Amino acid sequence: MNEQLSLYSAHFQLTGRCNLACRFCGQRKGMLASSGSDELCTADWIRCADELKCAAKRSGHRPEIMLWGGEPLIYPEFDLLTKTLAGQVFSLGIVTNGTLLEQHADVVCECLDRIFVSIDGGRVDHDAMRGTGVYDRAAAGLSAIRKRRGKLVLLCTVSDLNVDRMAELPDSLLELNPDEIVFQPLIYLSKREIADYRNFSKEVFQCDYPELSAWQREEDLDFQHRLSTGLKKLAGKDYPVPVRFTPHCHPLEKDTARCQLPLHHVHIRHDGAVGFCTDYFGFSAGNVREASLAAIFGSSRANLFRQAQAAGRLSICRHCPWCRQQFGSEIPADIPYHFDFKSIINNQTENQKCRCLIG
Ligand code: SF4
Ligand code: SF4
Repeated sequence: MNEQLSLYSAHFQLTGRCNLACRFCGQRKGMLASSGSDELCTADWIRCADELKCAAKRSGHRPEIMLWGGEPLIYPEFDLLTKTLAGQVFSLGIVTNGTLLEQHADVVCECLDRIFVSIDGGRVDHDAMRGTGVYDRAAAGLSAIRKRRGKLVLLCTVSDLNVDRMAELPDSLLELNPDEIVFQPLIYLSKREIADYRNFSKEVFQCDYPELSAWQREEDLDFQHRLSTGLKKLAGKDYPVPVRFTPHCHPLEKDTARCQLPLHHVHIRHDGAVGFCTDYFGFSAGNVREASLAAIFGSSRANLFRQAQAAGRLSICRHCPWCRQQFGSEIPADIPYHFDFKSIINNQTENQKCRCLIG
């Protein structure tokens, strides 16, 4: 195995189901599961965790697990699984919409090192994106975990609905007592990028991915301009907690080969399929029901994906913010977690000028 390969980080997508139907959700538009019939059971996840632990020990890293969905708190044995994992060496986190936190507050407060909750602004903005009453349910959940030991990060998706209020959003979010706020733009892919990936995947990975169309949206100069304006206003303010922005692809990056997630990380789907990416499920290197995690991670099929990604052949990488997220404590130093606001503003402005000239 390539000496750069060292598995120590995993997303456990406990379920493909969700209790919300957010208007922008690509998962919802054809990617979420309608039933839990094919979900891995708790014993399967514990076995995956054991294998991750062994692999991480060999690599010398602390193993990291992020519990994910759909909505992970829907998973029937969430509390049992989380308590089992928390008693071990793992750095343990969750990404949740927060609406079920009240019912699981004790476990979340005691067991999790990092708690990422999706909140898109105050009540009006959040409910416009995620449904009436969702803000109050999430706020009640956050109130129930005030005595947590882990770090609370609010993930704020910036879309057409809230982009014009970016500068005010941190003030609304601070009312919820976070330790950090992260903004990220909506994930989207152009029609061309979707077609490119599907053609490539059919040809090289021997599998199609029609669900990718759920993310379709064309580049939008007007939105980019509004985003730049919002970022400029944010940059001029001070906040009592870190406020960050994770763009899709930085204009200074010549290609997308910087993502190193496939070298140390896996995303295990609710049905056991193993890929590398958080929001794109089309590729599977194998299934943990049929092979060990180590065998899948080191397989020729996994290497095929790595080669394609390193060669910049995957159009999906152009709009992926996940390689920058601080999900792990040991993200390689040369992967920028975020870019400083000034550099983003300059580059957004340059981008707009270029696009205007081209257009
Ligand atoms: S909470 Fe997340 S997974 Fe559920 S519908 Fe909303 S964006 Fe999609
Ligand atoms: S889509 Fe590309 S950039 Fe994003 S995690 Fe996957 S390989 Fe990395």
